Amino acid sequence: MKDQLVKALALEGRVRLYLVRSTDLVEEARNRFDLNPTPTAALGRVLSVASIMGAMLKDSHEMLTININGGGPLGQIVVDAYPNGDVRGFVSNPLAEADSLNNGHLNVGAIVGNAGTLTVTKDLHMEDNWSGTVALQSGEIGEDFAYYFTLSEQTPTAVSVGVKVEPGGQVKAAGAMVLQMMPDATDTDISICEHVLSGLKPMSTIMEEYDDSDLSALAKDMFEDANVLSVQDVAFSCPCSKEKTERVLSSIAPGELQEMIDEDHGAEVTCNFCNTTYQFSEEELQKILDENLKNLAETKELEDSVDSGRRD
Ligand SMILES: [Zn+2]
Repeated sequence: MKDQLVKALALEGRVRLYLVRSTDLVEEARNRFDLNPTPTAALGRVLSVASIMGAMLKDSHEMLTININGGGPLGQIVVDAYPNGDVRGFVSNPLAEADSLNNGHLNVGAIVGNAGTLTVTKDLHMEDNWSGTVALQSGEIGEDFAYYFTLSEQTPTAVSVGVKVEPGGQVKAAGAMVLQMMPDATDTDISICEHVLSGLKPMSTIMEEYDDSDLSALAKDMFEDANVLSVQDVAFSCPCSKEKTERVLSSIAPGELQEMIDEDHGAEVTCNFCNTTYQFSEEELQKILDENLKNLAETKELEDSVDSGRRD
């Protein structure tokens, strides 16, 4: 079945449960950046949790950025998430690799590293962005996010996330679960949650098992009284476009644009977040430059007239 995200309440609303199947979106990230297996798992885990965090935002104009830098060979992981379930993101080194663990699992912690931080910055359309940073615990991502939610957002949270990669590199299954205790959760609720979590298989195994089902069924299998609030789509999606890239080019100094025309006879601009490359021909650059010079002249004229106005 296609990717989806389910929000539910359980234990009479004292526990919040988020589940996401992200197999297709992680596979898309792998294809866009030609990621090696372990970077696929690392970025895939962050994208999966990010899609849930995006869905936690209240307003459709809000968004958040996750930045992880653990000092390992993978470098930085940067992921943006939006309330509609869209996510986008990249890693510094798509080819980083490490030997698998003894149990055959990809060694995500070894390429992410654990000598660094996880930062979440939320753009809530207020004067200042909200930002929270925690020290990485293991670089395995799930644990790190659980620590972040508990410490930075003061919500006791369990996170389980997994990406299973086939020997050929394709993503077989990916998904995440976030379980949060509300302030009115009782000790009994906590024991019930601990019991549910202790019986939980690895997330990528669960996603393989529920591949043909709606994730509402998983929510109900975890908690008998699960009340599903919504089911929504998730996707790897970047809002970049040639038009927006053109606006970036028009802010470049005229001298530099002239150089691109004279020496490179065009320009190629690649979006960091989705690896899409936009081509600009010599003619297109000339048009941007002409427009740019015209605007500069108009601004100057306006300034001159303001100046002469002052003298009068
Ligand atoms: Zn893009």
